Amino acid sequence: RNDQLDQWDRENFFHPSTHLAQFARGEAPNRIVKGGSGSHIEDRDGNKLLDAFAGLYCVNVGYGRTEISDAIAEQARELAYYHAYVGHGTEASITLSKMILDRAPDHMSKVYFGLGGSDANETNVKLIWYYNNILGRPEKKKIISRWRGYHGSGLITGSLTGLELFHKKFDLPMAQIKHTEAPYYYRRDNLDQSEEQFVQHCVDKLEEMIEREGADTIAAFIGEPVLGTGGIVPPPAGYWEAIQKVLDKHDILFVADEVVTGFGRLGSMMGSEHYGLKPDLITIAKGLTSAYAPLSGSIVSDKMWKVLEQGTDEFGAIGHGWTYSAHPIGAAAGVANLKLLDDLNLISNNREVGGYLKKTMTEALGDHPNVGEVRGEGMLCAVEFVKDKDSRTFFDAADKIGPQVASALSESGVIGRAMPQGDILGFAPPFCLTKEEADEVVTKTVAAAQKVLG
Ligand code: PLP
Repeated sequence: RNDQLDQWDRENFFHPSTHLAQFARGEAPNRIVKGGSGSHIEDRDGNKLLDAFAGLYCVNVGYGRTEISDAIAEQARELAYYHAYVGHGTEASITLSKMILDRAPDHMSKVYFGLGGSDANETNVKLIWYYNNILGRPEKKKIISRWRGYHGSGLITGSLTGLELFHKKFDLPMAQIKHTEAPYYYRRDNLDQSEEQFVQHCVDKLEEMIEREGADTIAAFIGEPVLGTGGIVPPPAGYWEAIQKVLDKHDILFVADEVVTGFGRLGSMMGSEHYGLKPDLITIAKGLTSAYAPLSGSIVSDKMWKVLEQGTDEFGAIGHGWTYSAHPIGAAAGVANLKLLDDLNLISNNREVGGYLKKTMTEALGDHPNVGEVRGEGMLCAVEFVKDKDSRTFFDAADKIGPQVASALSESGVIGRAMPQGDILGFAPPFCLTKEEADEVVTKTVAAAQKVLG
Protein backbone atom coordinates (compact mmCIF):
# COMPACT_ATOMS: atom_id res chain seq x y z
CA ARG A 1 0.00 0.00 0.00
CA ASN A 2 1.43 3.33 -1.05
CA ASP A 3 0.66 5.66 1.88
CA GLN A 4 2.40 8.47 0.10
CA LEU A 5 -0.56 8.60 -2.29
CA ASP A 6 -2.78 9.71 0.61
CA GLN A 7 -0.38 12.50 1.44
CA TRP A 8 -0.07 13.61 -2.20
CA ASP A 9 -3.85 13.50 -2.50
CA ARG A 10 -4.32 15.88 0.45
CA GLU A 11 -1.44 18.14 -0.58
CA ASN A 12 -1.80 18.44 -4.34
CA PHE A 13 -5.15 17.37 -5.68
CA PHE A 14 -7.87 20.06 -5.99
CA HIS A 15 -10.93 17.81 -5.93
CA PRO A 16 -14.13 19.13 -7.54
CA SER A 17 -17.30 19.59 -5.47
CA THR A 18 -15.39 19.01 -2.24
CA HIS A 19 -15.13 20.78 1.13
CA LEU A 20 -11.55 21.88 0.50
CA ALA A 21 -10.56 22.79 4.05
CA GLN A 22 -11.92 19.60 5.62
CA PHE A 23 -10.25 17.53 2.94
CA ALA A 24 -6.88 19.18 3.36
CA ARG A 25 -7.07 18.72 7.14
CA GLY A 26 -7.84 15.03 6.67
CA GLU A 27 -11.29 15.36 8.27
CA ALA A 28 -13.13 14.13 5.20
CA PRO A 29 -12.40 10.67 3.80
CA ASN A 30 -10.75 10.04 0.46
CA ARG A 31 -11.16 6.93 -1.64
CA ILE A 32 -8.59 5.77 -4.14
CA VAL A 33 -10.35 3.65 -6.73
CA LYS A 34 -8.42 1.06 -8.67
CA GLY A 35 -10.75 -1.22 -10.56
CA GLY A 36 -14.29 -2.13 -11.41
CA SER A 37 -16.42 -4.89 -12.84
CA GLY A 38 -20.16 -4.91 -13.63
CA SER A 39 -21.93 -2.89 -10.93
CA HIS A 40 -18.94 -2.84 -8.56
CA ILE A 41 -15.88 -0.69 -8.05
CA GLU A 42 -12.83 -1.81 -6.12
CA ASP A 43 -10.61 0.42 -4.02
CA ARG A 44 -6.85 0.00 -3.80
CA ASP A 45 -7.20 -2.11 -0.64
CA GLY A 46 -9.33 -4.63 -2.51
CA ASN A 47 -12.66 -3.56 -0.94
CA LYS A 48 -15.55 -4.01 -3.37
CA LEU A 49 -18.46 -1.58 -3.34
CA LEU A 50 -21.76 -1.86 -5.18
CA ASP A 51 -21.88 1.42 -7.08
CA ALA A 52 -25.56 2.28 -7.11
CA PHE A 53 -24.80 5.67 -8.66
CA ALA A 54 -22.76 4.41 -11.65
CA GLY A 55 -19.99 6.92 -10.95
CA LEU A 56 -21.90 10.15 -11.53
CA TYR A 57 -24.82 8.44 -13.29
CA CYS A 58 -22.60 7.75 -16.24
CA VAL A 59 -21.05 4.25 -16.24
CA ASN A 60 -24.29 2.97 -17.69
CA VAL A 61 -23.12 -0.32 -19.20
CA GLY A 62 -21.16 -1.12 -16.03
CA TYR A 63 -17.45 -1.33 -15.27
CA GLY A 64 -14.81 -3.43 -16.99
CA ARG A 65 -16.40 -3.82 -20.43
CA THR A 66 -13.56 -5.01 -22.64
CA GLU A 67 -15.64 -4.38 -25.78
CA ILE A 68 -15.21 -0.64 -25.06
CA SER A 69 -11.66 -0.66 -23.72
CA ASP A 70 -10.53 -2.75 -26.71
CA ALA A 71 -12.16 -0.29 -29.11
CA ILE A 72 -10.39 2.57 -27.33
CA ALA A 73 -7.02 0.78 -27.50
CA GLU A 74 -7.48 -0.03 -31.18
CA GLN A 75 -8.38 3.58 -31.98
CA ALA A 76 -5.42 4.88 -29.96
CA ARG A 77 -3.07 2.60 -31.88
CA GLU A 78 -4.50 3.50 -35.28
CA LEU A 79 -5.04 7.24 -34.77
CA ALA A 80 -5.21 8.74 -31.28
CA TYR A 81 -6.11 12.21 -32.49
CA TYR A 82 -7.08 14.30 -35.38
CA HIS A 83 -9.28 17.39 -35.28
CA ALA A 84 -12.75 17.83 -36.74
CA TYR A 85 -12.40 21.41 -38.04
CA VAL A 86 -13.20 22.36 -41.66
CA GLY A 87 -14.64 19.04 -42.70
CA HIS A 88 -12.21 16.60 -41.07
CA GLY A 89 -13.52 13.43 -39.50
CA THR A 90 -12.65 9.87 -38.60
CA GLU A 91 -14.45 6.63 -39.25
CA ALA A 92 -15.44 6.51 -35.56
CA SER A 93 -16.80 10.07 -35.31
CA ILE A 94 -18.77 9.84 -38.56
CA THR A 95 -20.20 6.44 -37.63
CA LEU A 96 -21.14 7.71 -34.19
CA SER A 97 -22.94 10.76 -35.58
CA LYS A 98 -25.09 8.38 -37.67
CA MET A 99 -25.74 6.10 -34.67
CA ILE A 100 -26.80 9.06 -32.53
CA LEU A 101 -29.17 10.46 -35.16
CA ASP A 102 -30.68 6.98 -35.62
CA ARG A 103 -31.54 7.00 -31.92
CA ALA A 104 -32.75 10.62 -31.68
CA PRO A 105 -36.26 11.89 -32.57
CA ASP A 106 -36.88 12.05 -36.35
CA HIS A 107 -36.84 15.85 -36.59
CA MET A 108 -33.24 16.06 -35.32
CA SER A 109 -30.67 16.71 -37.99
CA LYS A 110 -26.99 16.99 -36.90
CA VAL A 111 -24.72 16.44 -33.93
CA TYR A 112 -21.99 18.80 -32.71
CA PHE A 113 -19.47 16.96 -30.50
CA GLY A 114 -17.92 18.25 -27.28
CA LEU A 115 -16.35 16.68 -24.23
CA GLY A 116 -18.74 16.97 -21.29
CA GLY A 117 -22.28 18.05 -20.48
CA SER A 118 -21.26 21.57 -19.43
CA ASP A 119 -19.50 22.41 -22.69
CA ALA A 120 -22.37 20.88 -24.70
CA ASN A 121 -24.82 23.24 -22.96
CA GLU A 122 -22.41 26.11 -23.55
CA THR A 123 -22.53 25.17 -27.26
CA ASN A 124 -26.33 25.12 -27.08
CA VAL A 125 -26.48 28.66 -25.71
CA LYS A 126 -24.13 29.90 -28.43
CA LEU A 127 -26.13 28.17 -31.15
CA ILE A 128 -29.36 29.69 -29.79
CA TRP A 129 -27.85 33.17 -29.80
CA TYR A 130 -26.33 32.70 -33.25
CA TYR A 131 -29.72 31.46 -34.50
CA ASN A 132 -31.58 34.54 -33.26
CA ASN A 133 -28.90 36.88 -34.56
CA ILE A 134 -29.15 35.32 -38.01
CA LEU A 135 -32.93 35.72 -37.86
CA GLY A 136 -32.40 39.41 -37.12
CA ARG A 137 -33.77 39.39 -33.57
CA PRO A 138 -30.69 39.94 -31.39
CA GLU A 139 -32.81 41.05 -28.43
CA LYS A 140 -34.29 37.53 -28.11
CA LYS A 141 -31.52 36.27 -25.77
CA LYS A 142 -32.82 35.23 -22.35
CA ILE A 143 -32.95 31.60 -21.40
CA ILE A 144 -35.41 30.17 -18.91
CA SER A 145 -34.29 27.29 -16.75
CA ARG A 146 -35.88 25.76 -13.64
CA TRP A 147 -34.97 25.96 -9.98
CA ARG A 148 -33.31 22.63 -9.14
CA GLY A 149 -32.29 22.09 -12.77
CA TYR A 150 -28.67 21.01 -13.34
CA HIS A 151 -26.99 21.96 -16.59
CA GLY A 152 -23.31 22.22 -15.73
CA SER A 153 -20.95 24.38 -13.72
CA GLY A 154 -19.36 26.83 -16.17
CA LEU A 155 -20.38 30.51 -16.17
CA ILE A 156 -23.40 30.26 -18.42
CA THR A 157 -24.14 26.62 -17.59
CA GLY A 158 -23.68 27.22 -13.85
CA SER A 159 -26.16 30.06 -14.32
CA LEU A 160 -28.61 27.71 -16.01
CA THR A 161 -28.21 25.35 -13.06
CA GLY A 162 -30.87 26.22 -10.51
CA LEU A 163 -29.07 25.17 -7.32
CA GLU A 164 -27.83 27.76 -4.86
CA LEU A 165 -24.52 26.02 -4.23
CA PHE A 166 -23.50 26.61 -7.84
CA HIS A 167 -24.31 30.36 -7.70
CA LYS A 168 -23.21 31.39 -4.25
CA LYS A 169 -19.99 33.49 -4.22
CA PHE A 170 -19.53 33.10 -7.99
CA ASP A 171 -21.67 36.14 -8.89
CA LEU A 172 -24.10 33.86 -10.72
CA PRO A 173 -26.59 33.56 -12.30
CA MET A 174 -25.69 35.80 -15.24
CA ALA A 175 -28.30 38.36 -16.23
CA GLN A 176 -29.64 36.54 -19.31
CA ILE A 177 -30.71 33.48 -17.31
CA LYS A 178 -34.06 33.31 -15.49
CA HIS A 179 -35.38 30.50 -13.29
CA THR A 180 -38.94 29.30 -13.05
CA GLU A 181 -40.80 26.78 -10.88
CA ALA A 182 -39.53 23.18 -10.69
CA PRO A 183 -42.14 20.49 -11.40
CA TYR A 184 -41.65 19.11 -7.90
CA TYR A 185 -45.10 17.92 -6.92
CA TYR A 186 -44.07 16.58 -3.50
CA ARG A 187 -42.71 20.05 -2.57
CA ARG A 188 -45.68 22.07 -3.88
CA ASP A 189 -46.64 25.06 -1.68
CA ASN A 190 -50.31 24.20 -1.70
CA LEU A 191 -50.78 20.60 -0.57
CA ASP A 192 -54.44 20.68 -1.64
CA GLN A 193 -53.40 20.92 -5.30
CA SER A 194 -53.98 17.85 -7.50
CA GLU A 195 -51.23 16.93 -9.97
CA GLU A 196 -53.26 18.52 -12.72
CA GLN A 197 -53.69 21.75 -10.76
CA PHE A 198 -50.00 21.80 -9.94
CA VAL A 199 -49.08 21.42 -13.62
CA GLN A 200 -51.35 24.38 -14.35
CA HIS A 201 -49.59 26.31 -11.58
CA CYS A 202 -46.18 25.60 -13.25
CA VAL A 203 -47.61 26.72 -16.59
CA ASP A 204 -49.02 29.91 -15.02
CA LYS A 205 -45.66 30.71 -13.45
CA LEU A 206 -43.92 30.28 -16.80
CA GLU A 207 -46.53 32.38 -18.61
CA GLU A 208 -46.17 35.12 -15.97
CA MET A 209 -42.40 35.16 -16.47
CA ILE A 210 -42.75 35.36 -20.26
CA GLU A 211 -45.29 38.15 -19.90
CA ARG A 212 -43.10 40.06 -17.45
CA GLU A 213 -39.87 39.73 -19.45
CA GLY A 214 -41.52 39.97 -22.90
CA ALA A 215 -41.63 36.98 -25.28
CA ASP A 216 -39.48 38.90 -27.76
CA THR A 217 -36.61 38.80 -25.22
CA ILE A 218 -36.79 35.08 -24.46
CA ALA A 219 -34.86 32.74 -26.71
CA ALA A 220 -35.13 29.34 -25.09
CA PHE A 221 -36.23 27.11 -22.24
CA ILE A 222 -33.97 24.34 -20.96
CA GLY A 223 -34.98 21.35 -18.85
CA GLU A 224 -34.01 17.82 -17.97
CA PRO A 225 -36.79 15.32 -18.76
CA VAL A 226 -36.43 14.17 -15.13
CA LEU A 227 -34.73 16.62 -12.74
CA GLY A 228 -31.51 14.84 -11.79
CA THR A 229 -28.99 16.48 -9.49
CA GLY A 230 -31.77 18.71 -8.15
CA GLY A 231 -33.25 15.64 -6.42
CA ILE A 232 -34.24 12.97 -8.99
CA VAL A 233 -37.74 14.32 -9.54
CA PRO A 234 -39.89 12.87 -12.33
CA PRO A 235 -42.43 15.45 -13.55
CA PRO A 236 -46.15 15.10 -12.82
CA ALA A 237 -48.29 13.67 -15.62
CA GLY A 238 -49.01 16.16 -18.39
CA TYR A 239 -46.24 18.59 -17.38
CA TRP A 240 -44.15 18.41 -20.53
CA GLU A 241 -47.10 18.52 -22.88
CA ALA A 242 -48.38 21.68 -21.17
CA ILE A 243 -44.95 23.38 -21.07
CA GLN A 244 -44.25 22.65 -24.74
CA LYS A 245 -47.54 24.28 -25.73
CA VAL A 246 -46.48 27.49 -23.99
CA LEU A 247 -43.07 27.45 -25.68
CA ASP A 248 -44.60 26.90 -29.13
CA LYS A 249 -47.07 29.71 -28.57
CA HIS A 250 -44.28 32.20 -27.81
CA ASP A 251 -41.74 30.94 -30.37
CA ILE A 252 -39.29 29.89 -27.64
CA LEU A 253 -36.76 27.18 -28.45
CA PHE A 254 -36.69 24.09 -26.27
CA VAL A 255 -33.47 22.41 -25.10
CA ALA A 256 -33.91 18.92 -23.62
CA ASP A 257 -30.89 18.30 -21.42
CA GLU A 258 -30.53 14.54 -21.73
CA VAL A 259 -27.09 14.24 -20.20
CA VAL A 260 -28.53 11.83 -17.63
CA THR A 261 -31.62 10.53 -19.44
CA GLY A 262 -30.08 10.00 -22.90
CA PHE A 263 -29.37 6.44 -24.08
CA GLY A 264 -31.61 4.45 -21.85
CA ARG A 265 -31.71 5.58 -18.24
CA LEU A 266 -35.49 6.04 -18.19
CA GLY A 267 -36.09 2.69 -19.90
CA SER A 268 -36.54 4.34 -23.33
CA MET A 269 -33.67 5.16 -25.69
CA MET A 270 -34.12 8.90 -25.07
CA GLY A 271 -36.01 10.85 -22.41
CA SER A 272 -37.51 12.84 -25.29
CA GLU A 273 -39.09 9.65 -26.58
CA HIS A 274 -40.22 8.70 -23.05
CA TYR A 275 -42.15 11.94 -22.57
CA GLY A 276 -43.02 12.74 -26.20
CA LEU A 277 -40.81 15.84 -26.30
CA LYS A 278 -40.08 17.82 -29.46
CA PRO A 279 -36.86 19.66 -28.59
CA ASP A 280 -34.87 22.00 -30.83
CA LEU A 281 -31.63 20.91 -29.17
CA ILE A 282 -30.76 17.82 -27.14
CA THR A 283 -27.74 17.72 -24.83
CA ILE A 284 -26.01 14.35 -24.53
CA ALA A 285 -22.91 13.24 -22.60
CA LYS A 286 -22.40 10.63 -19.84
CA GLY A 287 -24.30 7.63 -21.28
CA LEU A 288 -23.02 8.36 -24.80
CA THR A 289 -19.76 6.59 -23.93
CA SER A 290 -20.76 5.25 -20.48
CA ALA A 291 -17.90 7.55 -19.39
CA TYR A 292 -15.21 5.25 -20.78
CA ALA A 293 -13.88 8.39 -22.48
CA PRO A 294 -15.10 12.01 -22.31
CA LEU A 295 -17.53 12.88 -25.09
CA SER A 296 -20.69 14.98 -25.34
CA GLY A 297 -22.93 16.31 -28.04
CA SER A 298 -25.52 18.89 -28.99
CA ILE A 299 -28.10 17.37 -31.30
CA VAL A 300 -29.58 20.08 -33.50
CA SER A 301 -33.07 20.05 -35.05
CA ASP A 302 -33.84 20.53 -38.78
CA LYS A 303 -35.46 23.85 -37.97
CA MET A 304 -32.34 25.27 -36.32
CA TRP A 305 -29.93 23.66 -38.77
CA LYS A 306 -31.49 25.44 -41.74
CA VAL A 307 -30.91 28.82 -40.08
CA LEU A 308 -27.36 27.96 -38.99
CA GLU A 309 -26.52 26.97 -42.56
CA GLN A 310 -27.97 30.20 -43.86
CA GLY A 311 -25.84 32.09 -41.30
CA THR A 312 -22.63 30.63 -42.66
CA ASP A 313 -23.63 31.59 -46.20
CA GLU A 314 -23.96 35.17 -44.99
CA PHE A 315 -21.08 35.36 -42.48
CA GLY A 316 -18.63 32.55 -43.26
CA ALA A 317 -17.55 29.61 -41.11
CA ILE A 318 -19.16 29.35 -37.69
CA GLY A 319 -16.75 30.62 -35.04
CA HIS A 320 -17.23 27.86 -32.53
CA GLY A 321 -14.95 24.87 -32.04
CA TRP A 322 -13.01 22.84 -29.48
CA THR A 323 -9.63 21.18 -30.16
CA TYR A 324 -11.12 17.94 -28.90
CA SER A 325 -14.51 18.06 -30.69
CA ALA A 326 -15.29 14.52 -31.86
CA HIS A 327 -12.08 13.17 -30.33
CA PRO A 328 -11.45 9.81 -32.04
CA ILE A 329 -10.97 7.95 -28.75
CA GLY A 330 -14.24 9.26 -27.32
CA ALA A 331 -15.97 8.49 -30.62
CA ALA A 332 -14.62 4.91 -30.68
CA ALA A 333 -15.83 4.47 -27.10
CA GLY A 334 -19.25 5.83 -28.11
CA VAL A 335 -19.64 3.44 -31.04
CA ALA A 336 -18.69 0.41 -28.91
CA ASN A 337 -20.89 1.58 -26.03
CA LEU A 338 -24.05 2.11 -28.11
CA LYS A 339 -23.54 -1.31 -29.74
CA LEU A 340 -23.19 -2.92 -26.32
CA LEU A 341 -26.38 -1.26 -25.07
CA ASP A 342 -28.26 -2.94 -27.92
CA ASP A 343 -26.43 -6.28 -27.82
CA LEU A 344 -27.01 -6.78 -24.09
CA ASN A 345 -30.57 -5.46 -24.17
CA LEU A 346 -29.70 -3.21 -21.26
CA ILE A 347 -32.48 -0.68 -21.73
CA SER A 348 -35.20 -3.23 -21.17
CA ASN A 349 -33.34 -4.30 -18.00
CA ASN A 350 -33.79 -0.71 -16.79
CA ARG A 351 -37.53 -0.98 -17.11
CA GLU A 352 -37.59 -4.26 -15.26
CA VAL A 353 -34.91 -3.93 -12.57
CA GLY A 354 -35.35 -0.15 -12.21
CA GLY A 355 -39.06 -0.69 -11.61
CA TYR A 356 -38.23 -3.47 -9.13
CA LEU A 357 -35.79 -1.21 -7.25
CA LYS A 358 -38.36 1.55 -6.87
CA LYS A 359 -41.07 -0.91 -5.81
CA THR A 360 -38.98 -2.71 -3.20
CA MET A 361 -37.53 0.57 -1.88
CA THR A 362 -41.07 1.92 -1.49
CA GLU A 363 -42.21 -1.23 0.29
CA ALA A 364 -39.22 -1.12 2.62
CA LEU A 365 -39.12 2.61 3.42
CA GLY A 366 -42.37 4.20 2.24
CA ASP A 367 -43.96 4.01 5.72
CA HIS A 368 -40.88 5.12 7.66
CA PRO A 369 -41.80 8.20 9.75
CA ASN A 370 -38.83 10.13 8.32
CA VAL A 371 -39.28 9.19 4.69
CA GLY A 372 -41.40 11.72 2.86
CA GLU A 373 -41.30 10.11 -0.54
CA VAL A 374 -39.68 7.32 -2.53
CA ARG A 375 -39.75 8.15 -6.24
CA GLY A 376 -38.10 7.22 -9.50
CA GLU A 377 -38.34 6.49 -13.18
CA GLY A 378 -36.47 3.79 -15.10
CA MET A 379 -33.10 3.21 -13.45
CA LEU A 380 -33.37 6.29 -11.23
CA CYS A 381 -34.61 6.20 -7.66
CA ALA A 382 -34.61 8.63 -4.72
CA VAL A 383 -35.53 8.57 -1.05
CA GLU A 384 -36.39 11.96 0.47
CA PHE A 385 -35.95 12.20 4.23
CA VAL A 386 -38.08 14.63 6.28
CA LYS A 387 -38.18 15.64 9.92
CA ASP A 388 -41.96 15.30 9.99
CA LYS A 389 -43.87 13.25 7.50
CA ASP A 390 -47.23 15.09 7.72
CA SER A 391 -45.91 18.63 7.47
CA ARG A 392 -43.01 17.59 5.15
CA THR A 393 -40.68 19.72 7.26
CA PHE A 394 -37.00 19.62 6.30
CA PHE A 395 -34.33 18.57 8.78
CA ASP A 396 -31.95 21.37 9.72
CA ALA A 397 -29.29 21.54 7.03
CA ALA A 398 -26.66 21.33 9.80
CA ASP A 399 -27.96 17.85 10.76
CA LYS A 400 -26.72 16.60 7.35
CA ILE A 401 -29.12 13.67 7.40
CA GLY A 402 -28.73 12.89 3.68
CA PRO A 403 -24.91 12.85 3.78
CA GLN A 404 -24.95 10.83 7.01
CA VAL A 405 -27.20 8.14 5.51
CA ALA A 406 -25.08 8.07 2.33
CA SER A 407 -21.95 7.67 4.41
CA ALA A 408 -23.44 4.87 6.58
CA LEU A 409 -24.56 3.17 3.37
CA SER A 410 -21.10 3.43 1.87
CA GLU A 411 -19.57 1.93 5.04
CA SER A 412 -21.82 -1.08 4.46
CA GLY A 413 -20.54 -1.45 0.88
CA VAL A 414 -23.14 0.36 -1.28
CA ILE A 415 -22.68 3.74 -2.94
CA GLY A 416 -25.68 6.07 -3.19
CA ARG A 417 -25.45 9.85 -3.52
CA ALA A 418 -26.53 12.54 -1.08
CA MET A 419 -28.01 14.99 -3.58
CA PRO A 420 -26.75 18.56 -3.08
CA GLN A 421 -30.02 20.18 -1.93
CA GLY A 422 -32.36 18.66 0.68
CA ASP A 423 -31.94 15.32 2.42
CA ILE A 424 -32.33 13.21 -0.68
CA LEU A 425 -30.50 9.95 -1.22
CA GLY A 426 -30.23 9.22 -4.94
CA PHE A 427 -29.65 6.02 -6.84
CA ALA A 428 -28.74 5.71 -10.51
CA PRO A 429 -27.19 2.26 -10.83
CA PRO A 430 -25.54 0.83 -13.92
CA PHE A 431 -28.02 -0.69 -16.35
CA CYS A 432 -26.66 -4.19 -15.68
CA LEU A 433 -27.94 -4.13 -12.07
CA THR A 434 -29.50 -7.47 -11.14
CA LYS A 435 -32.52 -7.98 -8.88
CA GLU A 436 -30.22 -9.49 -6.23
CA GLU A 437 -28.07 -6.35 -6.34
CA ALA A 438 -31.21 -4.21 -6.13
CA ASP A 439 -32.19 -6.18 -3.00
CA GLU A 440 -28.79 -5.45 -1.49
CA VAL A 441 -29.21 -1.72 -2.21
CA VAL A 442 -32.60 -1.70 -0.49
CA THR A 443 -31.61 -3.80 2.55
CA LYS A 444 -28.50 -1.74 3.19
CA THR A 445 -30.35 1.56 2.68
CA VAL A 446 -32.89 0.52 5.31
CA ALA A 447 -30.06 -0.37 7.70
CA ALA A 448 -28.23 2.92 7.01
CA ALA A 449 -31.43 4.93 7.58
CA GLN A 450 -32.02 3.06 10.81
CA LYS A 451 -28.47 3.73 11.97
CA VAL A 452 -28.83 7.49 11.43
CA LEU A 453 -32.51 8.03 12.25
CA GLY A 454 -33.22 5.19 14.68
N1 PLP B 1 -26.54 18.38 -17.65
C1 PLP B 1 -26.99 17.47 -16.78
C2 PLP B 1 -28.44 17.09 -16.81
C3 PLP B 1 -26.13 16.86 -15.87
O1 PLP B 1 -26.58 15.97 -14.98
C4 PLP B 1 -24.76 17.22 -15.90
C5 PLP B 1 -23.80 16.60 -14.96
O2 PLP B 1 -24.17 15.92 -14.04
C6 PLP B 1 -24.35 18.19 -16.82
C7 PLP B 1 -25.25 18.74 -17.68
C8 PLP B 1 -22.92 18.63 -16.84
O3 PLP B 1 -22.12 17.64 -17.34
P1 PLP B 1 -20.53 17.63 -17.07
O4 PLP B 1 -20.37 17.41 -15.60
O5 PLP B 1 -20.06 16.49 -17.92
O6 PLP B 1 -20.00 18.92 -17.53
